[in-house]
Amino acid sequence: MRAIVIGSGFGGLATALRLRVKGYEVLLLERRDKPGGRAYVFEQDGFTFDAGPTIITAPFLIEELFTMTGVKATDYAELFAVHPFYRIRFDDGETFDYSGDPAAMRAEIARFSAADVDGFDRFLRVSRAIFEKGFLELGHVPFLEPSSMIRIIPSLMRLQCYRSVLGLVKRYIRNEKLRQVFSFHPLLVGGDPRHAPAIYALICYLEREWGVHYARGGMAAVVSGLVRRLEEMGGTLRLGSTVEEIVVRDGRARGVRLEDGGVEEADLVVCNSDYAWTYMNLIRPEDRPSHSDRALRRRRYSMSLFLIYFGTNRTCPDLAHHTILLGPRYEGLLEDIFRKHRLADDFSLYLHAPTRSDSGLAPPGHECFYVLAPVPNLLSGTDWASTRARYRDAIYDHLERTCVPGLREHLVTERLFTPDDFRDTLLSHLGAAFSFEPTLAQSAYFRGHNKCPDIEDLYFVGAGTHPGAGLPGVLSSARVTDSLISAPAEATASSERDGDAA
Ligand SMILES: Cc1cc2nc3c(=O)[nH]c(=O)nc-3n(C[C@H](O)[C@H](O)[C@H](O)COP(=O)(O)OP(=O)(O)OC[C@H]3O[C@@H](n4cnc5c(N)ncnc54)[C@H](O)[C@@H]3O)c2cc1C
Repeated sequence: MRAIVIGSGFGGLATALRLRVKGYEVLLLERRDKPGGRAYVFEQDGFTFDAGPTIITAPFLIEELFTMTGVKATDYAELFAVHPFYRIRFDDGETFDYSGDPAAMRAEIARFSAADVDGFDRFLRVSRAIFEKGFLELGHVPFLEPSSMIRIIPSLMRLQCYRSVLGLVKRYIRNEKLRQVFSFHPLLVGGDPRHAPAIYALICYLEREWGVHYARGGMAAVVSGLVRRLEEMGGTLRLGSTVEEIVVRDGRARGVRLEDGGVEEADLVVCNSDYAWTYMNLIRPEDRPSHSDRALRRRRYSMSLFLIYFGTNRTCPDLAHHTILLGPRYEGLLEDIFRKHRLADDFSLYLHAPTRSDSGLAPPGHECFYVLAPVPNLLSGTDWASTRARYRDAIYDHLERTCVPGLREHLVTERLFTPDDFRDTLLSHLGAAFSFEPTLAQSAYFRGHNKCPDIEDLYFVGAGTHPGAGLPGVLSSARVTDSLISAPAEATASSERDGDAA
């Protein structure tokens, strides 16, 4: 029995490994020159750049991919804890070190508002309850029927999931700056803290439970470790292979047609490619009545990102590994990005400085960075070709004023990635960085289904599916998708039964 997985993002890699363990012959097809999807890694002028994810929460989800194949994760990738989790810098220069240490967190909160220390404890208790339900219980089960959603409504109500994350935080925390500190987490998975349901407050507890980790050697170490394990087990990764069509015969996925005209036959197909793009571009409209172009266009898509990868010929020893630079506006900026789809002049930034934890990622005496700004997706109509240089300069001005003095003077390498690249390189609808926006109306049963309702033997995995974006989300989606696929012997028996019945 042969399975084809389209796309080698974390969701695709995890599913490929899981299906190999189940006994499928696995062919993993990736259009880019390297695996990893958003977790692409590239070397440039002696620097190693992580292109995407840098914050590893729930490290056990990565470790189990190795252990289930019978090897020790540490023989393939070394993960280590980062402290603090983030340094948050407000626009007036004040900073907050966010960590998993309860005493240190209370002291940090008290510096801003002693009255909010108790509120923080209460918020933590609520986010723990949400984490237990939302992550431990519901994050690994499929939501394919409306009844599965109806069953969880009482729990969602009890956990105040009718509120937004920001709404929940406002109930417990009064200080404006602290409200930002405890509500920004949905942005990590493409959500607007004002509209992402309170279930996403689980991320606060998730970080606290297992810590924030990074991989020695960058994400490259994790991605290449997973690929190595897949290949050792006899799976095949083929790079530079763009799928143009999913071949459907008699209502079943039977393989894929590639850009070069070649056809690969399979007994089942799993799409890790962008959910909306895949339906709209790889499947004939007559084969997908439940996913018309019109219905897909009506859905809400996450924001996009503007990224600059850069290296300097001097180091910044005072920087934290992860810094969040909040801009002058919070809710107003969110409104511009998510609802008005307007590129504002101000921004908030995330600055990644991995050489703070792993000096091997840059030549000696050099520092490796990336900085990202959440920006509206392509509904904004921004002409990025003509805007990118101005936007880059505004970001560099801000970094020079705040935490990387003399940046341009010491700049030795650089690469940009804009919303156009999310669309054209990653084939992401509207250049969205995280697929569907995480809202209540697009979560669980209402998110992309892990199994296609119209076509047999066609499955989905990754950011657009349940439970959603982010590494814990897509690795959990691989668990969910895996749980829906029978082992080859059972699958053969069931298709023979179908054949007899026909
Ligand atoms: C800049 C950035 C920073 C992030 N930081 C974090 C973080 O710190 N922590 C965290 O947990 N999450 C983070 N995320 C989110 C996380 O990286 C993503 O949600 C996750 O990696 C998406 O994985 P995926 O399985 O959906 O696949 P993707 O990574 O989206 O990969 C899909 C793959 O499919 C391939 N593909 C698409 N179409 C085709 C086709 N037709 N034929 C062949 N191949 C195709 C693409 O080339 C791509 O390689 C970040 C995301 C971004 C963009």
